[in-house]
Amino acid sequence: MAAAVRHREFPVHYQPIIELETGRCIGAEALVRWRRPDGTMVRPDEFIPLAETSGLIMPITDQVIERVVSDLNQMLVADRSLHVAINLCAEDISTGRFLPVLAAALDHTGIWPEQILLEATERGFVDVEGARRTLIEARRIGHGTAIDDFGTGYSSLQYLQTLPLNALKIDKSFVDTIGKVTATSSVTNHIIDMAKALNLLVVAEGVERQDQADYLNERGVELAQGWLFAKPLPADDFIAFHKQCQQRLGPAPIRVKDGLRRPAAGRGAEGPAAPATHP
Ligand code: C2E
Ligand code: CA
Ligand code: CA
Repeated sequence: MAAAVRHREFPVHYQPIIELETGRCIGAEALVRWRRPDGTMVRPDEFIPLAETSGLIMPITDQVIERVVSDLNQMLVADRSLHVAINLCAEDISTGRFLPVLAAALDHTGIWPEQILLEATERGFVDVEGARRTLIEARRIGHGTAIDDFGTGYSSLQYLQTLPLNALKIDKSFVDTIGKVTATSSVTNHIIDMAKALNLLVVAEGVERQDQADYLNERGVELAQGWLFAKPLPADDFIAFHKQCQQRLGPAPIRVKDGLRRPAAGRGAEGPAAPATHP
């Protein structure tokens, strides 16, 4: 895999993130792939664990950051209502190592830090103090922060309350239980209620059916991603998907939503960066 890193064999696909109430595409999650020299695509579940134990995940994260910027720079500057979510490994969350890398990549691009959402799984919060430092700094810069795969790993409600998080992503395993009577179907409701109580934006993952989307929307879940809307797409296809959405539904308003977006008032697309407005 070290050779794959040297040869930069890691393209990024983008899964649209949809505003449930309107159906608008308001962003994407960047999902890395490994394209081997013979053209076969390896899914991240098959190489991320290995990359994490070998430490190669960090240069991979850096390459993902570069790709996101080169793939979507134009689009993000042209449409300020859009954000891109980037997945980070536990070590990056506990050390904050990637923050200067991200800052350098965004420098002179015109992309607002607010348009980049950082996703960390619960494994990233094992070192709570390290994670806290990283998230505080990320938010000072202007990035949004999200807890990923919530409910599937090491979890403490105590830290959820004290960490500077903007969003909570409900894992697909919980979304799968919607419409079924199982022990975990009530957990889904509790997670939504808890996220609301903590004033976190909720993103549901792995939405495959319309009845799941309807249910989540009724329960006040703002955002969702899943095959119902779109699979992860190569950059060009994602850009086309977003364009189609805009033509059908009109442009999305630029709103400050828990640090994900900036206010439109008085801001031109090329306007100077205003200080971040976070609670
Ligand atoms: P994740 O962060 O939970 O990403 C969501 C995964 O769910 C993606 O798998 C996506 O393709 C899949 N998915 C989305 N909607 C649906 C659906 O409706 N049905 C089903 N069955 N699956 C759906 P993917 O792309 O294979 O990524 C797997 C995991 O690999 C990610 O899970 C994330 O933990 C990790 N990963 C991906 N890219 C990166 C990266 O750049 N850095 C790091 N550290 N991890 C990454
Ligand atoms: Ca994720
Ligand atoms: Ca997830």
